[in-house]
Amino acid sequence: MIKLEHINKSFGSLHAVKDANLNVEKGEIICLIGPSGSGKSTLLRCINGLEVPESGTVTIDGQVLNTSDKKSAKELQKQRAKMGFVFQHFNLFPHMTVLKNLTLAPVQVLGRTQEEAEAKGRELLERVGLADKADSYPNSLSGGQKQRVAIARSLAMEPQIMLFDEPTSALDPEMVGEVLDVMKELATSGMTMMVVTHEMGFAREVATRVIFLDEGQILEEATPEEIFKAPKHPRTKEFLSKVL
Ligand code: ADP
Ligand code: MG
Repeated sequence: MIKLEHINKSFGSLHAVKDANLNVEKGEIICLIGPSGSGKSTLLRCINGLEVPESGTVTIDGQVLNTSDKKSAKELQKQRAKMGFVFQHFNLFPHMTVLKNLTLAPVQVLGRTQEEAEAKGRELLERVGLADKADSYPNSLSGGQKQRVAIARSLAMEPQIMLFDEPTSALDPEMVGEVLDVMKELATSGMTMMVVTHEMGFAREVATRVIFLDEGQILEEATPEEIFKAPKHPRTKEFLSKVL
C-alpha cells in the first residue's frame, strides 16, 4: 500500500530524512517512534506529498507519487485523496457546524449530494461517539471531541490510508484515551495506518510494526513484542528507557 525507496529530505544543510526505505502492506498499523526532531513528521509528510523529497520514490497503492512534475498536479491530487492526515492540532473550520465540517469536502471534491454526505457524516459521527454533536460548533467541543471530529472528517473522504501525526499530543491527559479508542477501532476495521506517537501503550497494543527513527534514519523496525522487550539498537534502548 505504501512503498518508500531511498527517501531523502533536507532543509538547507539539515538532512532531516536519510535514505528511508519502508514497505507497508494493506491493513498494517505502523507506529513511528523516536526523539523530537528525528524526522518523524517529515517522513510522514513525504508520504502524502506535503513535503517533496529531493530523492527517492514514494509509491501509493502501486502508483508513484509524482510531486516534481507540474503537469501531473491532478494526478497528485488524486493520489493524495487516498490518504487522510490527522495532525496534532485539529484544524476544524470554526465557523461551520460539526456536520458541515464533515460534508463540505465530500460534496465539493467527491461530488456527493448533500443528502448522501449528511447521511455518511452522521454515520461517522456515530462511529466516533459524537452523534449528538452534529449541530454544535467546534469551539463548544473539548479537545478530545475536536480530534474525534477531525478523524471523522478525514474518514468522510473515504481514504485507503490514514496518517496520524501525534494526534493526542496536544490533548489533556484525560482525553487521550477516547481518541486512542477511536483509532483502535479504525485499526481493527482494516484501515492501513501510519501513526507518529509517544503513546507506547497504543503502539504495543495496536501496531503490526514499530519503526524507530533517530537523526533522520530508520534505525530499527520490529514487531512491538520485539522492540519493547528486546530493542536491538543501543539508541532504541536508550530512547525506550526514557519513555517507558
Ligand atoms: P519530528 O517530527 O521527529 O520531531 P521533524 O520531522 O519535525 O521531526 O523534524 C526533523 C528535523 O527537520 C528537525 O531538525 C526540524 O527542525 C527540521 N525541520 C522540519 N521541518 C522543517 C522546515 N519546514 N524547515 C526547516 N527545518 C525543518
Ligand atoms: Mg513531529
